[in-house]
Amino acid sequence: MNTTETTAPGCPSEAVFTDGTVPCTLPRGHEEPHAYGDRLVLFDDEAEPTLERVLTIIHNVDEWLDSDVSPGYQEQPLAQDWARVTKAGEEVGEAIDALIGFTGQNPRKGTYGSLDDLLGELADVAVTGMFAIQHFTKSADQTASVIMKALEKAAKRAAEAGYGD
Ligand SMILES: [Mg+2]
Repeated sequence: MNTTETTAPGCPSEAVFTDGTVPCTLPRGHEEPHAYGDRLVLFDDEAEPTLERVLTIIHNVDEWLDSDVSPGYQEQPLAQDWARVTKAGEEVGEAIDALIGFTGQNPRKGTYGSLDDLLGELADVAVTGMFAIQHFTKSADQTASVIMKALEKAAKRAAEAGYGD
């Protein structure tokens, strides 16, 4: 991964990108640079984001979550099923809190966090969903197939609306 730091055209000067090809999209109503802070880093170069690496992580994390969960869950598989699905909901709550924080939506709490924090929490939502899928499939290939099916469904709808093919 390219690690050259650059500021994309049109982005706040504080926004730092590690990949110049990533577009900077300013959410509606948040065009002011302060909303972005100075810690916007979309990628790091610690691991190449290959599909093989993604599937390996999904497999390993799922195995860990099921093997090392407390005995009460191991003795009640349905409880673990529910825990693995509702975990995604917990992450949604964290993403909402991050959005509240960096936009200053709650006067009592003031402004805290950054867009970087929000993106991280949204990523947690995505990967927690992947781990939950893997919990049920126990097959990284099948998990990938389920995810691709969802992506292709979205792609088809976008294409029908004139975006992509
Ligand atoms: Mg989180």
